[in-house]
Amino acid sequence: MEDKDLDKLYDLIYKLNEEVAELKRRSEEVKQDPDESQMDVVTDQEHVLVDPHSLGEYKNVSLPNGSVLKMRTYPMCVNGRHVINDLSDIVFCSRCGGAICSKHALDIDPPLCKNCIREEVGILSEAEIAVLVAVSKGVPFWRMTKTLKVSRGLVSKSLEKLRSLGFIRLGFPNFLRYETTMDGDNFIRLASFIYDI
Ligand SMILES: [Zn+2]
Ligand SMILES: [Zn+2]
Repeated sequence: MEDKDLDKLYDLIYKLNEEVAELKRRSEEVKQDPDESQMDVVTDQEHVLVDPHSLGEYKNVSLPNGSVLKMRTYPMCVNGRHVINDLSDIVFCSRCGGAICSKHALDIDPPLCKNCIREEVGILSEAEIAVLVAVSKGVPFWRMTKTLKVSRGLVSKSLEKLRSLGFIRLGFPNFLRYETTMDGDNFIRLASFIYDI
């Protein structure tokens, strides 16, 4: 979906939610002012809400004046940012519970959405991730500054941080060279869903 379409979708969601708010407001006015109780409140029309945590359901929302709004909720794919019409192949992010359609589901078990992955890999800067990837490829320290175009100081600091997080360790039998741990490799895999590494 292009940004243009996305804007349209958000616009639509915004308008629908506004419409519901307006109906609620009007019904409250009616309640407060019995003389105007003839005012029409649309209740037969179906209202639509998009909710990333919904499996798609009908909800009845009671208004203060006693009328009931029929609401239909549709799940929204948090990775592709679109309404999911086909509910057969849907997974939920294990962290935030957001719905993900089969087309946009990533190959991770348990499932995670892109936002949650971004949050998780956010503990490292892009430079630190680049150093981690360089370690996994066996690039020696002296070559990292040139390959990654970062200062010696930054490479040293990154290596220190990666070691304290348990992502790298000094290799055996070459104690002068770092290697990635299993946690480090898992982190790289996760980061590869967000960064082009
Ligand atoms: Zn999707
Ligand atoms: Zn999530």
